[in-house]
Amino acid sequence: MKKIFLIVLDGLGDRPNIELQGRTALQAAYKPNLNRLVKEGQAGIMHPVSPGSRTGSDTSHLSLLGYDPAKYYTGRGPFEAMGLGMTVLGGDIAFRANFGAVDANGVVTDRRAGRITSGTDKLADVLSFSVDGIDFFVKAGVEHRAALVMRGKGLSDRITDSDPHEPGLKVREVKPLDEKGKFTADVLNKYLSMARKKLTDHPVNTERIREGKEPANELLIRGAGQAPTLTPFSELFGMKAACISGIPMITGICRLVGMDSIAVKGATGRLDSDFRAKFEAAYKTLNDYDFLIMNVKATDIAGHDGNPIAKRDAIQRIDTAMKDIDKILQDTVVCITGDHSTPCAMKDHSGDPLPILFSTGGIRKDRAKLFDEISCTEGTYNINSGDVMKILLQLSDRAEKYGA
Ligand code: ZN
Ligand code: ZN
Repeated sequence: MKKIFLIVLDGLGDRPNIELQGRTALQAAYKPNLNRLVKEGQAGIMHPVSPGSRTGSDTSHLSLLGYDPAKYYTGRGPFEAMGLGMTVLGGDIAFRANFGAVDANGVVTDRRAGRITSGTDKLADVLSFSVDGIDFFVKAGVEHRAALVMRGKGLSDRITDSDPHEPGLKVREVKPLDEKGKFTADVLNKYLSMARKKLTDHPVNTERIREGKEPANELLIRGAGQAPTLTPFSELFGMKAACISGIPMITGICRLVGMDSIAVKGATGRLDSDFRAKFEAAYKTLNDYDFLIMNVKATDIAGHDGNPIAKRDAIQRIDTAMKDIDKILQDTVVCITGDHSTPCAMKDHSGDPLPILFSTGGIRKDRAKLFDEISCTEGTYNINSGDVMKILLQLSDRAEKYGA
């Protein structure tokens, strides 16, 4: 049996760019190592989740790891909380939240608390406490954004938002959508009124009012989602697994399925990430684990920035960083793909399929020679992301026989 190294170049897929003479970033990149892996292995085209699906990183990573998002994706709340680096466990209820400003009558005067830029971490600090046996955790994000996580027995996400979604309206009481949501709504309303008091009295807000700014005196919550309870990856596939990722949301998903997260110094989740350090850490990690997933975010960032040159350059630097990958290839199945396309021309995720490659010692080769969106159509596969684990198990001699 071999080990498995799954490399996800986030938002890898692209569309033709005028700046690159009609080529995709991958087509334009000088990438001898990626091309060699294709030449000496198998390639193909992969649809994130299913053909035509326009996915987020959360749904595609779940799918790549063998967890069908149609079954397990429970809304953005839990994944946004993970994105802020919060611990989210199966069964937790998570919300997206805003620090907003309300007047004495409970009417929202500004959903963004005057575009608050500082002090929200201090406000969040006083909002993590317990009510009726339920633990509440709040973490501040960028500007007015935050997330709330509830943990305890008997919770349900069948409840409404407190956020009225428009200024000039009163903060809403949280209501249950059915019998199951009743306890959660009750304890949440209790919590929110205690939170309101703590926020109103907080020095950050007294200072803001003195300066003539809107106070951040209300935590407006929306989009309740219950984090799915997932069968641990190790149980599902019989492999000891780890992840390396510079972005908290992906780390959060990997932790949710019970993987160990390996921190790498210099891995920033940005364009300036130390790709070399990540690959070196990956080779080391593979000594102790059967399965490793590594996310590289830079390609997605360049796509969102609408910068094909930066995307091409990121791919080139990643290619250079993996020049020693041959040393693990004999005993490891290496798979390189993305989680979705982020075309520079679109500055967002699209449903375009992605190239995928598989390489390992003794693998059957195919006709694909270059690692890009077009050349890989000459390869073996035309698959959905949910098929990737199956192929990896097969190539690593871990697949169980179907039939006699
Ligand atoms: Zn992504
Ligand atoms: Zn993205």
